[in-house]
Amino acid sequence: MLRLYNTLTRKKELFKPIKKNKVGLYTCGPTVYNYIHLGNLRAFVFYDLVKRYLLYKKYKVKHVMNITDVDDKTIRDSQKEKKSLKEFTEFYTREFLKDLQTLNIIKPDIMPKATEHIPEMVSLVKILLKKGYAYKAADGIYFSIKKFKNYGNLAQLEKQNLQSNARVSMDEYEKENISDFSLWKAYDKNDGNVFWETEIGKGRPGWHLECSAMSQKYLGIPFDIHCGGIDLVFPHHTNEIAQSEAAYNKKFVNYWLHNEHLLVDEKKMSKSLHNFYTLRDLLSKQYSGKEIRFLLLSVHYRQKINFTFESLNSVKNILEKIEEFMTNIQNYKKSSPLLIKKTKQEFEKAMDDDLNFSKALAVIFDFMKEVNKKKIGIGVKKLMFEFDKVLGLNLDKIKSEKIPEKIIKLAEEREKARKEKNYKEADKIRNEINSLGYQLEDSEKGVKIKKV
Ligand SMILES: [Zn+2]
Repeated sequence: MLRLYNTLTRKKELFKPIKKNKVGLYTCGPTVYNYIHLGNLRAFVFYDLVKRYLLYKKYKVKHVMNITDVDDKTIRDSQKEKKSLKEFTEFYTREFLKDLQTLNIIKPDIMPKATEHIPEMVSLVKILLKKGYAYKAADGIYFSIKKFKNYGNLAQLEKQNLQSNARVSMDEYEKENISDFSLWKAYDKNDGNVFWETEIGKGRPGWHLECSAMSQKYLGIPFDIHCGGIDLVFPHHTNEIAQSEAAYNKKFVNYWLHNEHLLVDEKKMSKSLHNFYTLRDLLSKQYSGKEIRFLLLSVHYRQKINFTFESLNSVKNILEKIEEFMTNIQNYKKSSPLLIKKTKQEFEKAMDDDLNFSKALAVIFDFMKEVNKKKIGIGVKKLMFEFDKVLGLNLDKIKSEKIPEKIIKLAEEREKARKEKNYKEADKIRNEINSLGYQLEDSEKGVKIKKV
């Protein structure tokens, strides 16, 4: 029984989809004005975890992730680079898709672009105007927050702060500036050639409007799960709820899931502190997508994660151990159906508890220890592949070769000779093993056989 922490109620709730065995999942996508950085990556890897575990539980998931290719930032930076908005955003969209692949993130089923959904946004604004939730001002159309009585529930805003008549035209703003927000921005010469001629005037959509219009188009209303980074609770998701619920008079989303921030060396990541990393920066330092993915997942999504290069290095060792384990189990012969069953149950228990991935990992590591100790081989690989549906480490692609029976026998004979202090014989066998293309490595935990 999957339980998820719902930001709307600040409680862990039993997950019940609207339609049996089906899940509508909307995750806020990138604003394509730059390469994505580590903080963004945490959110994208988190979305992937949610989706993978739903798939593991045999739900049919319809995953929608928007591409914000028009907003204040994309316009500003495309102008700086003297490129058309389309050329500029298409470049970063392509790069974003490559990054998803590098991190082994399952591609969303639908990735709607904001610029391709202007008519849907216009009709949403028209409904809001007609119902009296929206009004026209000189610089565009605004949503009147005091008209919508549940405004701010998600972010738990203080009701007395919601009575001002102030307006904010920017897409992003702080809680101190709670005010009527922009649905549609009337054309301003600073927007250059970015505008649409529509029934509600010449201009462009506000950022929040994009997600309300596109989620409704592809998932309907209400839908099951909406994910995002914690910084999107206000104003973005707060405004999405206001727009959609005011327009359609229905609950917008049943479960809101938010991932916490990422810190670098205990500090907020920023260019001025020189602790700002994109995925590309880390890849150029010879870290792999898998390692970065694993590190970002290893801390529970509702806790802050502190990124350090030490922790990324230690992930390297952990992944090597897992790979080695996948090779070793091919030579184990024993079976323990009970251990397999118990491990699967414990893994699911951890994940069912609000996707407690770090606990699930501990279950896997304990399992690996037990398997190594007792040389259990039967059913182990199958179970690890099953877990990998959630881990996303492509364990099935690890190229490992089975060590031939003959080599294992020779290694055992050598061990025996060594124990009997017959070093001459032991060396002789070792040489024989080497001549057959294998190598023995003595370690604290015993002897390892490796193909040269
Ligand atoms: Zn959004």
